[in-house]
Amino acid sequence: MTELKQIIENLVREPVLADEPMSRHTTFRVGGPAALYVAVSDTAELAGVIRACRAAGVKYYVIGNGSNLLVRDEGYDGVIIEIGKHMGMCTRNPGTDTITARAGASLAMVAALARDEGLTGFEFASGIPGTIGGACIMNAGAYDGEMKMVLESVKLMDEDGTVIEEKADRLGLSYRYSNIPERNLIVVEATIALTPGDRETISARMKELNARRMEKQPLEYPSAGSTFKRPEGYFAGKLIQDAGMRGYTVGGAQVSEKHAGFVINKGGATAADIWSLTCDVREAVLKTSGVILEREIRLI
Ligand SMILES: Cc1cc2nc3c(=O)[nH]c(=O)nc-3n(C[C@H](O)[C@H](O)[C@H](O)COP(=O)(O)OP(=O)(O)OC[C@H]3O[C@@H](n4cnc5c(N)ncnc54)[C@H](O)[C@@H]3O)c2cc1C
Repeated sequence: MTELKQIIENLVREPVLADEPMSRHTTFRVGGPAALYVAVSDTAELAGVIRACRAAGVKYYVIGNGSNLLVRDEGYDGVIIEIGKHMGMCTRNPGTDTITARAGASLAMVAALARDEGLTGFEFASGIPGTIGGACIMNAGAYDGEMKMVLESVKLMDEDGTVIEEKADRLGLSYRYSNIPERNLIVVEATIALTPGDRETISARMKELNARRMEKQPLEYPSAGSTFKRPEGYFAGKLIQDAGMRGYTVGGAQVSEKHAGFVINKGGATAADIWSLTCDVREAVLKTSGVILEREIRLI
């Protein structure tokens, strides 16, 4: 790893961190150390880091804002590559109603640009604490909106560092799913297509949705948002509540009292606490309602 660290240091602008606690890079605020952690600033750096990892035979994993991730307490024995704020530019394309964003742009930043440009259709995403890249992977959505409805095209990098452009309809987007990870591709850029709208109305809608989040979600605690996917015909939170698991605690992890669909880090939770709590919740829900809950959070 020492040799690989030196190679990567020569490729990127940001410092390369060794044994970096992933609790610093996930919204759950849990996770053991990554052997190496690097934030890339552009596609050339990303391609260089991937090639260096592959040449050294070391595994790598790309993250955005870490808002849908549970990293094991043992950490990650490879290179974590962050595509975040250092690769986060977004602009309106002149003469069109489209916005192109680098994968690391935050959804909040893109939503603010859309509002300022008088473009409607992206208000749903303004309160989701992820990046454009993470949102494409997850087909993130809220309040009757989802990425599938606005995504026009993406630029994807393969394992050789080659970038290709694909139309959104090739990504198999469906509820919290895209086919990008199974093809071992990385999102480097996305273009969304919106429609002209009134700035004041857009701004009011964003404020309204964010107020609803504040009211309903336990935003005062670290979490990864909804822990489970919504099973067809049900709401995960309601099933969990009906199973008597609201407030259920394992170590520092708890099923939120405010919103049973959220697992929160009440203080000092480990990844093992969170994992074991989600196993107990799944078992309880299966017993009381016969429904199998599927985790929405990604495990490293
Ligand atoms: C308080 C709170 C509220 C939330 N509310 C919502 C909500 O309303 N709706 C919703 O859908 N989600 C919600 N989430 C979950 C999360 O914010 C979204 O899933 C978001 O899209 C994840 O983006 P990220 O950049 O944080 O991705 P990460 O968590 O960093 O990564 C998630 C997955 O995407 C992959 N990935 C990330 N970036 C890239 C890239 N550039 N190329 C390839 N793979 C990549 C990672 O490998 C990982 O598998 C919420 C989370 C929190 C904490």
